[in-house]
Amino acid sequence: MSSDASNESGPDLAQGVPIESLGEAGLLSGHVGNDAVLIARLGDEFFAIDAACTHYHGPLAEGLIVGDTVRCPWHHACFSLRTGEAVRAPALSPVACWSTEIRGDKVVVLHKKAPPAASVTSPAGAPQKIVIVGAGAAGFAAAERLRRLGYAGSLTMLSDDEAPPVDRPNLSKDYLAGSAPEEWLPLRDDAFFADQRIDLRLNAGVTRLHVAAQEVELADGSKVPYDRLLLATGAEAVRLPIPGMDLPHVHTLRTLADSRAIIARAANARRAVVIGASFIGLEAAASLRARGLEVHVVAPEQRPMERVLGPQMGEFVQRLHEEHDVVFHLGNTASAIDPQHVSLKAGGKLEADLVVVGVGVRPRLALAEQAGLAIDRGVVVDACLQTSAPGVFAAGDIARWPDPHSGTAIRVEHWVVAQRQGQTAAMNLIGGREKFDAVPFFWSQHYDVPINYLGHADSWDEISVDGDIAGRDCFLRYKRDGRVVAVASIYRDVESLRAEVEMERDLR
Ligand SMILES: Cc1cc2nc3c(=O)[nH]c(=O)nc-3n(C[C@H](O)[C@H](O)[C@H](O)COP(=O)(O)OP(=O)(O)OC[C@H]3O[C@@H](n4cnc5c(N)ncnc54)[C@H](O)[C@@H]3O)c2cc1C
Repeated sequence: MSSDASNESGPDLAQGVPIESLGEAGLLSGHVGNDAVLIARLGDEFFAIDAACTHYHGPLAEGLIVGDTVRCPWHHACFSLRTGEAVRAPALSPVACWSTEIRGDKVVVLHKKAPPAASVTSPAGAPQKIVIVGAGAAGFAAAERLRRLGYAGSLTMLSDDEAPPVDRPNLSKDYLAGSAPEEWLPLRDDAFFADQRIDLRLNAGVTRLHVAAQEVELADGSKVPYDRLLLATGAEAVRLPIPGMDLPHVHTLRTLADSRAIIARAANARRAVVIGASFIGLEAAASLRARGLEVHVVAPEQRPMERVLGPQMGEFVQRLHEEHDVVFHLGNTASAIDPQHVSLKAGGKLEADLVVVGVGVRPRLALAEQAGLAIDRGVVVDACLQTSAPGVFAAGDIARWPDPHSGTAIRVEHWVVAQRQGQTAAMNLIGGREKFDAVPFFWSQHYDVPINYLGHADSWDEISVDGDIAGRDCFLRYKRDGRVVAVASIYRDVESLRAEVEMERDLR
């Protein structure tokens, strides 16, 4: 991704900068003392906020002003210029606001403002007890947003995982590669849950949902009552129905425990076979290369990621991995695994002392199915993310929602979508009627190359390519019936943000 917002780079904003230096984009970053600060111009108004996104420290000065917000170029987080609030995921924490003053033809940044006082009163009509099943992207974002909205009632989050909410996308990227320490993974520390009175219960698998009685049942038989419920149970990695899948050196990758187990195994492994050329499989391949393992990838398709990104980008991704000495065995599948090998259906065996199976995920629908909620390859929700049972909402990888952009009901497996759905669900759990209409967005990272994708295209009849894919500077438009339904880009971040705004405007 592009440059980082380092603290003392750029002009000293306490000394002031000429107004005209803000340029057409209306954004300029500099510093005040040791703090990196961004100045943004909205007509005759000037705002100053921290310069780095609170998600992955993306440089907001390279983003886009939309209304009275600024969007981050890296993963499309969005901050209010007026209050610093993190309006849209993936950022969940606000940025600080600074006061400004105009002196002649200069804008000067004065001092950091105190954060706005948190609201503590429950919105009118809010229920007394909210229960969230799942502590992943959607569940956590919902809990966090509920408290930010001023919901003061009881809030319980039940997770069958042993780990608190973590930055799941990192589990196949920097953490797995060894370049991000484990301290970076938790979305919040323990103190946050205590301060916010979020009763986070780990190792608390929910086994049944009793809609009529408004309660969920845990594995130990205990029951937790609710007034409103959010189902955010996510997805689980698909396992292969082949001999050897249960061997100790064979792993899937969904949880922190999975990622830790792969890291532990990689420490003494020489050669890994990744089964599946999915996003997660290939990110894992890149991370294992960073750890010095030989990596072979086995997958049935002719080009990795072609189904989602098209042949040109698929070919680029394959070449990129080959440049890093990953060996592909495409048009092939694994038929068996033994302690030293993966056998291939087309014949032959690959040596492997570590196997990562990345052949897709399956939404975790058991609770919803057993409770009789409407299901259609996912939990069916309305535009406000309510399921067929009043008061029961669903968000994230399990939810199939009426996507107004594609005009169809879709279910996707994207971190940012899950978080934003959690945020919309939060509003509706306390009586709001907010429709979920965000443009789907995901990113994937392979070595130093980020791929950003916006929109949703199950199929297309044309892909137009601006720029040079091999040169890692490109913008692809996926068109159906002459209309752009999705875009993918590498290092064209502002164009990607503009495309998001255009898709939002098309809707209106
Ligand atoms: C390794 C990896 C890398 C990824 N990288 C990216 C990326 O780069 N970009 C991107 O857009 N997306 C990425 N994704 C996908 C993204 O993480 C998911 O789309 C997102 O986490 C979905 O959020 P969710 O809340 O629906 O589910 P999850 O985050 O999976 O959370 C589900 C939660 O529900 C709990 N749960 C399930 N069933 C029960 C039950 N019965 N009782 C109690 N608790 C239960 C689980 O333990 C978990 O806490 C990645 C996924 C993985 C695994």
